[in-house]
Amino acid sequence: MKSIKTLCPFCGVGCGLEIISTATADQEIKRDAQGNPIWKVRGDRQHPSSQGMVCVKGATVTESIRRDRLLYPMIRESLDQPFRKVSWDQALNLIVDRINTVRSEYGSDALCMYGSGQFVTEDYYVAQKLIKGCLGTNNFDANSRLCMSSAVSGYVQSLGADGPPCCYEDLELTDCAFIVGSNTAECHPIIFNRLAKYHKKNPDVKLIVADPRYTQTAQVADLHLPIRPGTDIDLFNGIGYLLLRWGDIDAVFIDECTRNFQQYAQLLQSYTPEIVAERCGITLEDLETAARYWQQSKRILSLWSMGLNQSSEGTAKVRSLINLHLMTGQIGKPGCGPFSLTGQPNAMGGREAGGLAHLLPGYRSVTNPQHRAEVEQFWGIPEGRISPHIGRTVWDMIIGLEQDQVQFLWIAATNPAVSMPDLERTKAALLKSPFTVYQEAYYPTETSAYAHVLLPATQWSEKTGVMTNSERRVTYCPGFDQPLGEARHDWEIFAEVGRRLGFKEQFAFQTSADVYAEFVQLTQGRPCDLSGLSHERLQHQGPTQWPCPAGSTEPGRQRLYTDNHFATPDGRAIFCGYHSQGLAEPCDPDYPYVLTTGRLYGHWHTLTRTGRTDKIQQMHPDPFIEIHPKDAANLGVENGDQVEVRSRRGSCLFPAKVTTFIAPGTVFVPMHWGALWAEDAEANNLTHPHACPDSRQPELKACAVQLIRK
Ligand code: SF4
Repeated sequence: MKSIKTLCPFCGVGCGLEIISTATADQEIKRDAQGNPIWKVRGDRQHPSSQGMVCVKGATVTESIRRDRLLYPMIRESLDQPFRKVSWDQALNLIVDRINTVRSEYGSDALCMYGSGQFVTEDYYVAQKLIKGCLGTNNFDANSRLCMSSAVSGYVQSLGADGPPCCYEDLELTDCAFIVGSNTAECHPIIFNRLAKYHKKNPDVKLIVADPRYTQTAQVADLHLPIRPGTDIDLFNGIGYLLLRWGDIDAVFIDECTRNFQQYAQLLQSYTPEIVAERCGITLEDLETAARYWQQSKRILSLWSMGLNQSSEGTAKVRSLINLHLMTGQIGKPGCGPFSLTGQPNAMGGREAGGLAHLLPGYRSVTNPQHRAEVEQFWGIPEGRISPHIGRTVWDMIIGLEQDQVQFLWIAATNPAVSMPDLERTKAALLKSPFTVYQEAYYPTETSAYAHVLLPATQWSEKTGVMTNSERRVTYCPGFDQPLGEARHDWEIFAEVGRRLGFKEQFAFQTSADVYAEFVQLTQGRPCDLSGLSHERLQHQGPTQWPCPAGSTEPGRQRLYTDNHFATPDGRAIFCGYHSQGLAEPCDPDYPYVLTTGRLYGHWHTLTRTGRTDKIQQMHPDPFIEIHPKDAANLGVENGDQVEVRSRRGSCLFPAKVTTFIAPGTVFVPMHWGALWAEDAEANNLTHPHACPDSRQPELKACAVQLIRK
């Protein structure tokens, strides 16, 4: 038997997996008659994050690995032509020629790359070096923009640096978990399992869930707050008001470790319980109970995800939640703190490697001259090569295509033709793209229809790299199977293009271990210091939390800010109070319902993999719309009836699921289905791109719709 330890490639929980295979005498994995590996998957009991647990996605991961794979490079001159197979040389030369032409005719800012939280850190790092370092544009963004960028800007603005301060052990040390904007039971199942087991065993531990839906998470809560969509800040300020009124604040911590409390306390004065309960659509009693739980708990752990982040005021929401932790001193200690749950398996690694349009490796900023100079020197590129301007975020890339300012678009390991807001507009922009490279493991996807060049990328199991999960834990993920067809590793493709563009020295990497060794040096002395890590150490020591500086014998660090010293210039965390502006697109008589979108337990993002997994397809075969019985009665809708949902941007058709699990006036649809799977049920046909001004994360969670029974 052969056993390989790795990480689940789906969500940001980052569960350890053990792949068991019957090996042949020469240690090759045994295969069936079709050449598919014969292997079994189970949870890795030694992995500290998941302790042997695994959800249905992790358990079935191998099913989709070899289905519908893109096997060789293909090109076409225009989108109405069929693809034709070409050699890697031909495809890469075409890309390099095009990059050179666009740079000389339009400048580097006409080039864009859109990457993915599915990348291993090595992929992210080499992509950054190519786009930001060598080509001189910061137009690199990743799908983490749609997922976690509000958490990033919230942490940076309140605590001085990105990075969740907590760890999963806190789930089992807390007195009260405050889950807001997260259906943890379905979207981060193993985190929820750990919390739910502990909650069940300890009747004094409280669980509060704030969510407009009565989700599986809410169903085990001591208190469910079915707040109106977009009223999170009101709720946080309302709790803050009561804690302040009752005197349940940590005055010493506030005095010694924070700034701006007086302004925040002043702002709270207008958040009386009556006003807050009315705005949020909850009872006064429930609001007070939530505040009492905060008051009575020595250790409060707040968990959040897309419900806060995917908002036109995402950063303000995150900071308003962090305010509660600062006023009660509930941070940097076991069992407490603000804890964002990352969506993708390596969105955290992307943040470390500079994988957003405003970042450079090591949590550096492109707008900081010293940061740029440090990276330029390290990379051996001319001074001033890195642009001082924040690059295009993914929605700005769409606008750039519309305005003919983007002439070259390289998309890798993501499926924007399903996941972007305002899909009709997104697709029209993609259609206009003069040249799109799409680097992906699968074919077809919805996005491959918009590509001029298809590059086959290797997939989990075939490539070696590291990923960082939501608790800052870095896991080595070995490649343990042969790449299918002519597929190449993402980082190798970027490096080869870099060499062909003339940057031979910068991309002389032989292995992904070389890439990682270079990358971690750039993190030395930075908040996300990984300089003590290497592939070798991770293999030897196992999954490790950062910071882990070079020379340190510490096996990683569980929590940040344990000394109450924050990453701001004066070491103090910063209060910042906000009045909510509400939803970017509120209801009105023409569009009287709020649509909220979300995820289901079994499916992952845009179905590229889980749509090809039989067990999961059987579990969730079709999309649907949840409607409250009162709304259904008003519309004359019964279970299973087709309902047309119209927003100002598009329309969809869904079968109705009439349920009290959704609040009246709000409807829910899952976001997973794209045109390949359900032509009329693409949820993002309805959503809009209005984004948080700080994080530029679009408000995918809410828009105004009308409902028509068909
Ligand atoms: Fe994979 Fe997330 Fe499920 Fe863990 S919880 S097995 S990381 S999908």
